[in-house]
Amino acid sequence: MARSPLEIGGSTVKAGSRAHVEIPVSRLITGAEMSIPVVAVHGKTDGPSIWISAAIHGDEINGVEIVNQVLAQLDPKTMSGTVIAVPVVNLYGFITGDRYLPDRRDLNRSFPGSKKGSLAGRLAHLFMSEIVERCDFGMDLHTASDHRTNLPQIRSDLDAPRIRELAEVFGAPVMLHSKSKTTGTLRRAATRSGAGVLLYEAGEPWRFNGDAISMGVAGVRRVLDHLEIATYEGDPPGPVVECRSSTWIRAAKSGIAHLTVQAGDTVEAKQSLGTIDDAFGKRRSTIRASRNGIIIGQLLYPMVNQGDALVHIATPVGSETT
Ligand SMILES: [Zn+2]
Repeated sequence: MARSPLEIGGSTVKAGSRAHVEIPVSRLITGAEMSIPVVAVHGKTDGPSIWISAAIHGDEINGVEIVNQVLAQLDPKTMSGTVIAVPVVNLYGFITGDRYLPDRRDLNRSFPGSKKGSLAGRLAHLFMSEIVERCDFGMDLHTASDHRTNLPQIRSDLDAPRIRELAEVFGAPVMLHSKSKTTGTLRRAATRSGAGVLLYEAGEPWRFNGDAISMGVAGVRRVLDHLEIATYEGDPPGPVVECRSSTWIRAAKSGIAHLTVQAGDTVEAKQSLGTIDDAFGKRRSTIRASRNGIIIGQLLYPMVNQGDALVHIATPVGSETT
């Protein structure tokens, strides 16, 4: 029996085909129509439905590139299940290179949203009803926030066996256990509505980072292969370091930070990570690791105020004691 077509955003997508669909959001102040561009790849045979989303924070563009490279590699005629790709969720922020929406709200604190809520809440609601509720599983792609970079990593609930399995298959160098307790995130809202979510964090905002993109493309393809949606013949996942806790090392003094470590480095408790100096190079403070671990994120902008987050250290399972 032929597979049923997919109905999305007022369009009908036949089995074994793909369609570009525009889901209307609102009008801009100028009157121009604003819509979420979505590509639905509806496989020939039955299988799971997956979404891949990026730029929920409008300045986080590595994911946009990942989504598009994956899309270019998928052929609905040989695929099972359905992939719904949403390269830009926060359209407003994407246009202006801004993390937030014009109402200054964080879209990733506005889920599940509501039909008559704020602009962010309405966009969140639309994404839930048009995308998440059609899917069994999703991959949401992020980067670090402004002036920071992240080692490619999965952040998910590793106590959920199915999620853990897919996090290992994705094969980012680090998987960090996190339950998404924060109210309003897509991950929390989607999990509550019954869909599993892998959150991929890699690289920095406003840039394309080669490793972040290539590891993201390979990771998404491995997950699609594992779910028997689309075959992938690239490399199997490399070793994945599991971490269950992390901490930011903060600036003890204001000044100019000179970090001597970078994302991916392994460090030991009390080890020097660099210095904070004054404008003439005189040392004000030595930055030290508070625990053993692997650096999963760091500040890139050297001008720091006391208390600023400098280096993010996650502790691999088995090396918790210092
Ligand atoms: Zn983000």
